[in-house]
Amino acid sequence: MTPSPPRVPGPQLGQRYASAHPAFAVQVDPTPVPQARWALRNEALADAVGLPASWLHSDAALDVLAGNATLEYSAPVATVYSGHQFGHWAGQLGDGRALLLGDVRRDGQRTEIQLKGAGLTPFSRMGDGRAVLRSSLREFLASEAMATLGVPTSRALALVTSPLPVRRERVETAAIVTRTAPSFVRFGHFEHFAHHHQPDALRALIDHVCTDLWPDLGRDFTGDERVAALLLRVVQRSAELVAHWQALGFCHGVLNTDNMSILGLTLDYGPFQWMDAHVPNHICNHSDQGGRYAYDQQPQVVAWNLQALAVALSAACDSDDTEPLVQALRAFAPHYAQSLRQGMARKLGLGEVNETSTGLIHRWFDLLAEAGADHTRSHRRLSDTLRDASDWAALQSLPQAMQDELGGGEAVQAWWRDALAHWRVDSPQALGQALCQINPCFVLRNHMAQEAIDAAEGGDFGVAEQLWTVLRTPFDEHPAHARWATEVPSWAASLSISCSS
Ligand code: AMP
Ligand code: MG
Repeated sequence: MTPSPPRVPGPQLGQRYASAHPAFAVQVDPTPVPQARWALRNEALADAVGLPASWLHSDAALDVLAGNATLEYSAPVATVYSGHQFGHWAGQLGDGRALLLGDVRRDGQRTEIQLKGAGLTPFSRMGDGRAVLRSSLREFLASEAMATLGVPTSRALALVTSPLPVRRERVETAAIVTRTAPSFVRFGHFEHFAHHHQPDALRALIDHVCTDLWPDLGRDFTGDERVAALLLRVVQRSAELVAHWQALGFCHGVLNTDNMSILGLTLDYGPFQWMDAHVPNHICNHSDQGGRYAYDQQPQVVAWNLQALAVALSAACDSDDTEPLVQALRAFAPHYAQSLRQGMARKLGLGEVNETSTGLIHRWFDLLAEAGADHTRSHRRLSDTLRDASDWAALQSLPQAMQDELGGGEAVQAWWRDALAHWRVDSPQALGQALCQINPCFVLRNHMAQEAIDAAEGGDFGVAEQLWTVLRTPFDEHPAHARWATEVPSWAASLSISCSS
C-alpha cells in the first residue's frame, strides 16, 4: 500500500456533493508526481471563487494542485457516473482521472474544485488516471477563452506539469489541470443511478441539484413536478449552450452523455475545435469516423442526450405518466431555434428577431458554407467594415472586405442589399463598434493551441501566456499577434486531434 500524501494547511473546503448521499462518491487520494512545476495560474479566478489569490503562490498550493499533498480538513473524492458513448450504453464510467477536492464559497456562490489527471481512481478502468500536457493546455486555454466569450463553461484555475512519462499514441508528459465549476454533475450521474436501480440515490441527486444549484426548483416544486421542472430547466440551458456553440463555430467533439453538464456548461474539453472554414458537416474529432458529433449534428445530438436524461429521470417519478417529461423535451427545438436566432441577430447587428432577420441569418449561414469562409474572421470583417465606413452611402455596393471573405456572387450581393435595408441604426460606425464587442478577433484555433503546446513541451510557456493574454481580451486587435486573427497556416489542416488525451 502506498502511504497517503501529506496533509498541508490551506483553504478550508466543503464536500457538499459527496456528503449528499453515500453512493455518490468514494474517497481517493491523489497519486503524487515527480518535479511538479507551475505552468499557468489564474489569480483572477481564484479571487472570484473565494480562494486567496496569494495561496496560488504558495508551495503548499503547488503540492495540493499537483496531487502531492491534500488539504487539512478535506478529503478528495471521485464520483461515479455511467453514460451513453457514441450512441451506445457504455456502462459505468465515473471520474477515472478527476478528483473533486471540495467546494469553496464566496458571496453565497459555491464552486467545486477538481483536479484532472491526478492519478488512478476506482473508476479508471483501463486508463492510467493521467492527462498529458498537450490536452491539459488545450483545456486550460479553451475554457478560459470560452468564459471570456460569455459562454457557460467550466473554468481553469491552474496548470501544473511534471516530467512523468505518460503513454498515448506516443510518450508524452503529465500535467494536472485544476478545474472549477458550480457543479461537475453530468447527465451520466443520473443515468448511473437509474440504470443501477438506486432510486434513493437518484432522488437524492435530483434534490441536490434542485436545492443547491437551482434553489427555485427546490422551493417551488416537489415530487414528480420537481423532476419535470428540472428536466425543463436542463433542456433550456442545454439548448442555449448549443446555440452559443453554433453561433461561434465551436465543435465540442465528444458529446457523450457523460460529457453533458447538468448546468449547461461546456465541459470536458477534448478534441474540440473552433472551426476555421465554416463547413457544416465538419468533424473535429479524429476518432469520430461516422461524424456523429459533426458541427451541424450538435443540436440534435444534444436533444438525443436530453432524451437519455429524461429516461433516467423517469425512474425517479411515482407516476407512470411520462407526458410531463415529454413536454419538457418538446421545448428543446423552439428554445434552441430562438436562442440561435437571438445570438445570431446580435452577431449580425440585426436587432429584433423577426421574419426578415431570421431569413438573413439563414442566408448568412448558407453564404458561409458555400464560400467555405472562415467562421470567426467573416463575422469580424463584417463588424470592422461597418465600424470603418464613413457613412451608409459608402456601403451601398458590396465592400471588398466582404467579397474577400464570401466572394462577390449574386447571393452575397443580395444578402448585402437586404442587410443594408435592415440595419436601421444612426451610423454604421456605431453598429460596427457594438459588433466588434460581440464578434471576437481571436478564438483558440487548433494551430494556435499547437504552437503553445510545441513550445510548452520544450519547457517554454511564453506562447501559452501570450495566447492567454490575447484570449482574455479577444475583441481587441492585438496588432503584435495579428497573424492569429487573420492567417490559418496550411499545416493546420493536417492536425489530427482524437479522444486520446
Ligand atoms: P472522456 O472521453 O475524456 O470524457 O472520458 C470518458 C471516461 O474515460 C471517463 O470516465 C474518464 O474518467 C475516463 N478516462 C479518460 N481518460 C482516462 C485516463 N487516462 N485514465 C483513467 N480514466 C480515463
Ligand atoms: Mg469526459
